[in-house]
Amino acid sequence: MAISISLTWSEGITDWEADVFTRTVHETLHWLYFRRLDAFFDPPIRVQVFGNWIIPAMVGQGPYWGSQWYVDASYDHELGCVIAPSYLELVRNEPWQRMTPHLDLALLEEDLTDFPAPLARHRPDYYSLGASFPGQAAVMSVSRLRALEDDEEQRLALARLVRHHLGHVLAIPPFERQDRTLRRGLELHCTNCCTMRHAETVEQLLAYARAEAREPWRFCPTCTEALHTVMILHGGNWN
Ligand SMILES: [Zn+2]
Ligand SMILES: [Zn+2]
Repeated sequence: MAISISLTWSEGITDWEADVFTRTVHETLHWLYFRRLDAFFDPPIRVQVFGNWIIPAMVGQGPYWGSQWYVDASYDHELGCVIAPSYLELVRNEPWQRMTPHLDLALLEEDLTDFPAPLARHRPDYYSLGASFPGQAAVMSVSRLRALEDDEEQRLALARLVRHHLGHVLAIPPFERQDRTLRRGLELHCTNCCTMRHAETVEQLLAYARAEAREPWRFCPTCTEALHTVMILHGGNWN
């Protein structure tokens, strides 16, 4: 059965960042569909761009009034960042998820930590570029990427971040995979020269993005095979 993926972003995301975000998701999925042209007409993964959405009638009436609500509700003022596990928990429990089960990918301008708040207080210098509940939702931040020198570096790094977390929401690499993987909390990473390698810092993210850019397709063969399996799983009569 086809599944949809919702793309949302917070108030401060620029048009340029939103464009890199949505374009990278479309390009990655389209590349996978090249093997099966019928997927262009009946895509197994439907992209729904909600962007920085707001429901004016719900503002001031309670939770879930817009994409910024999730940010405000999971923001830690003492640390000056969004607590990613709290953010992802809100996404997972939102009423829209119960109405229509879907995958979520969000981009924020606020800084991010993937530690729970009590732990994060012990590591105030630590930051996270993105975090996920594999197979469900992921949240990413442009905060550290904006410090990069030029537009080309920023574009390369942001696209790599988006591609990586798209992989996580599609549950790549699959949990049963044993070889050349590295577990990190809930996330499983690939250790090949691959988009699914974990990048700890902006510098590492950019270095990986550059190394992977030598190939036109930036997932390793094992992860690519797993992505095709996901496509077939959601493809309905697409097999
Ligand atoms: Zn990861
Ligand atoms: Zn891989």
